[in-house]
Amino acid sequence: MRLAVLKERRSGETRVAATPETVKKLAALGPAIAVESGAGLASGYPDAAYREAGAEIAPDAATALSGAAIVLKVRAPLAAGEGEVDELSLIPRGALLIGTLEAVSDPARAEAYAAAGIEACSMELLPRITRAQSMDVLSSQANLAGYRAVVEGAGAFDKGFPMLMTAAGTIPAANVFIMGAGVAGLQAIATARRLGGRVSATDVRPAAKEEIKSLGASFVGYEDEESKAAQTAGGYAKQLSADFYAKQAEVVAAHVVKQDVVVTTALVQGRKAPTLLTAAMVASMKPGSVIVDIAADAGGNCALTQPGEAITTENGVKILGHRNWPGRIAGAASALYARNLLTFLATFWDKDAKAARLPQDDEIVRGVTLTRGGAVVHPMLAVQPA
Ligand code: NAD
Repeated sequence: MRLAVLKERRSGETRVAATPETVKKLAALGPAIAVESGAGLASGYPDAAYREAGAEIAPDAATALSGAAIVLKVRAPLAAGEGEVDELSLIPRGALLIGTLEAVSDPARAEAYAAAGIEACSMELLPRITRAQSMDVLSSQANLAGYRAVVEGAGAFDKGFPMLMTAAGTIPAANVFIMGAGVAGLQAIATARRLGGRVSATDVRPAAKEEIKSLGASFVGYEDEESKAAQTAGGYAKQLSADFYAKQAEVVAAHVVKQDVVVTTALVQGRKAPTLLTAAMVASMKPGSVIVDIAADAGGNCALTQPGEAITTENGVKILGHRNWPGRIAGAASALYARNLLTFLATFWDKDAKAARLPQDDEIVRGVTLTRGGAVVHPMLAVQPA
């Protein structure tokens, strides 16, 4: 049985789905591992390290995928016309494909996997339950994105984060405001505190307020009857009314004007990221202040964010709107992502058959399975018979 790890070819993708550490552990489960040459380079893992861990280095995607029963990816494989290699056409029928395939926003992908007879599992759909925590790619990647955003924000800020008392005088601590206190935002708070910033944060979910305070940041936000029920059963923020967002914007506007660095991380599942910073708010900020928008991939939390770009506004505010924040800390992001995938496979590994067995009555398996037996089966995608 052969397991293939491909080089990521999508624009700006620097991560890899297996590291030498996980290759060694995967090989111990039984399969022969083929890693496409150069797959780990952008994450700092050279071919030699994979070879030492027990993998065969394949010269290209076709060789890596030849006879593969399991394929590990970070992003969806390229289909015809999407790049120089049609990766999808090279995946053998019946193979298990595991990655963040983002088929809910692009259902044609799931249909293509079904037509190609591929059993596709999309890890960003993993249920956020305790048992699944060690396989949770959204959490592992968001955590690093939150860290990286603060570090890059501090780098772009032309003063320091901590209060600096020197013989030549004192530099005050930076005011750092974190918007959205989920996994990324909580790590951003902790990182900004470690750097010595004076940190405040906001969120709409009532549970977030205590979490913000427990990390030593002050809570800034608008609360009313509506926000008491702002959380879905799955723990995500709900889309709230225009009236709530207008009240929230008033509180934010009064606060933002005093901030040096603002890190925005707010997402609402399945929607464009909410706009939390308007052009007028940005115009009210001091020259030299910095906005780091981790939500850029989902359209951005700042009205002026240009996804994929770092810009400076007319009034001298820097807005870092890079895409793929985990990919900006690729070594660590790949290490954690690869462990998430290893844990998933090891959890559902049949030791006797030396193969993955995905029981469809398992909540985790049901949550991630897009296609099976030539059909799209995920409840968010499958067309119900009339
Ligand atoms: P997310 O990435 O979907 O959103 C980021 C944050 O933005 C959230 O905290 C959300 O409340 C916030 N937000 C949305 N609209 C906002 C607005 N208008 N203003 C301010 N903030 C706004 O969230 P996430 O990081 O994936 O976390 C979602 C939930 O899942 C949390 O409750 C988290 O604790 C939970 N979680 C559970 C597990 C687990 O038990 N396995 C693992 C990870 C996360």
